[in-house]
Amino acid sequence: MRYFKDSRRKALPGIMGFLSMLLVPLIVALVVQYDYLQDLERVSEERLALYERTLNSALQKHEYLPYLLAQTGIIKDLLSEGGDRIRMNSFLQSANERAESEAIYILDTDGIVIAASNWMKKTSFIGLDLSFRPYFKDAMNGAAGKFFGVGIMAGRPGFYISHPVRVNGRIVGVVATKIVLSALETLWQEGGETVFVADSNGVIVLSSRPSWKYRTLAPLSAEIRNRIHERWQFPQPKLKSLQSQSSTLLGFRETIIDKERFLKNSRSIPGMNWEITYLMNEDPLWERTLGMALTSFILVGLAILTRMFVRERSQRELSRQQALEAEKIRSMNKQLAQEIEERKRTELELREAQEELVQAGKLAALGEMATAVAHELNQPIAASKTYIASCRLMLNRGKLDELEPTLNKISDLCDRMAKVTGQLKSFVRKSSNKKTKFDLRRAVNESLTLMRHQFQVENCELQLDMPEYPIYIMGDHVRLEQVLINLFRNALDSMLHTASPVIGVEMAHENGHATILVRDNGPGIGTEIGKRLFEPFVTSKKEGVGMGLGLSISYKIIKDMGGDIRGRNRDECGAEFVLTLPVVDHDTSGAEA
Ligand code: ADP
Repeated sequence: MRYFKDSRRKALPGIMGFLSMLLVPLIVALVVQYDYLQDLERVSEERLALYERTLNSALQKHEYLPYLLAQTGIIKDLLSEGGDRIRMNSFLQSANERAESEAIYILDTDGIVIAASNWMKKTSFIGLDLSFRPYFKDAMNGAAGKFFGVGIMAGRPGFYISHPVRVNGRIVGVVATKIVLSALETLWQEGGETVFVADSNGVIVLSSRPSWKYRTLAPLSAEIRNRIHERWQFPQPKLKSLQSQSSTLLGFRETIIDKERFLKNSRSIPGMNWEITYLMNEDPLWERTLGMALTSFILVGLAILTRMFVRERSQRELSRQQALEAEKIRSMNKQLAQEIEERKRTELELREAQEELVQAGKLAALGEMATAVAHELNQPIAASKTYIASCRLMLNRGKLDELEPTLNKISDLCDRMAKVTGQLKSFVRKSSNKKTKFDLRRAVNESLTLMRHQFQVENCELQLDMPEYPIYIMGDHVRLEQVLINLFRNALDSMLHTASPVIGVEMAHENGHATILVRDNGPGIGTEIGKRLFEPFVTSKKEGVGMGLGLSISYKIIKDMGGDIRGRNRDECGAEFVLTLPVVDHDTSGAEA
């Protein structure tokens, strides 16, 4: 699990780096593209407005010419009374030259051209029947006509404007002007931009791209085709649809024409039913976008590489530091292990020395005790011998009735000797050294049983206070009894001259520990002895009586059991010793409430 977490943590920066190398250029590309699109939109708005203005001015320049001419008397006369046609033609020719239009001509009410500015040319309109042209029909209906189409004579495209001629409110004919917009288109082409004008049917009538001229933005219906044909408006074979498709790019209009992508901006020309469209090739946009994306890709890549390099370096530095630290820790550990080894050895040596001391102490104590025992036994043995000799004498004399008291004395002496050997046995008793769980109360009771006789002999009162439930501890109960017996023995010894000797034993249980307090009402512990109470060979007893080993051995036994032993003088009188031992278990179920 941890391995996976670690490997995931290690893999994370790599994934992040990879993602940022993809995402950052993408975001940059989008932002740049959107920003650039906004710029282009603004530019295209301006350009479109400009193109519209040039177109409008080209158209409006001649818009009033037919109207003005329709007001002239010469034209009215010609149409109502049939005036001088040659004069009329000359008038139109000079008017056309002044106006810089393609042609000016007059049609009668049947749509036949009766006078024209180009009367002298081969392509003269005179005599042509133009009744099918919409601008003628519009004018005959009393409105100003506007129409874009190719000319019948030379096939030159042009914009036709017409106006009815009225005499006494009656329409007597029509004045028409043809304007050629090719100069405008040339101008657009020279500008190198893509702009076109489409009529209401979607036929491109003006374009900066000659190949698009008369092409349609969408396929034309048969009906519209027929109408165009009837009006002789455009050369039919050219009316093919461009492969155009509209869509949006980040919310901006775009169009694809013949696989070329353009940003598109268009607006309708008021009063004309035309729409002018300005197209911007998207190549620079994509070049710029891709350029920025590539640049940011390279920059992000460089940043990641730099970061990796820096991280690698700091990682290496960290590893070096860690290696140094580890080495330091290793050498410290080694040193520590050596020290521990040293301490263990010292402790072992100390323990050995202590055991040797204890052993020596025991042997010495045994030696002393042997002397004491010999001394103790010598007297009763000698006395016994004397009594036995007197018993023999009594037997020889036949004084059998006097035997009884002497034999009783011998028996008393034997008891005394048995007591001495008993003490010796209890002192040298060896422990099994086995740790078992036992009830502390049992240890106290057993040690008291062993001491009972001594208590009686020395007239000592015992005050016992123990819990009513078992308190279990772990250890060697024989050794604990040895400690208790030693405490009782010391207390009895100290109260040799006490009038009413009392030994109190109190056992308590609290917070996982048991305490045994042994108190007496003797003279208390001597000040000097008190300072070194648990040191070996510290004794106030007469030579041959005490070795000063009891408490030091007791101390060792209690410590081995994980407990503690303390001794002090009581406030009232006498001394008290407190044993503290860890409790492993207790059972209060048998206790009285
Ligand atoms: P020993 O009994 O052989 O002297 P211990 O180590 O048992 O050795 O005791 C050391 C000394 O501590 C005793 O000689 C005595 O002076 C003092 N001592 C021990 N218990 C008592 C006591 N209950 N009252 C007064 N002194 C005591």
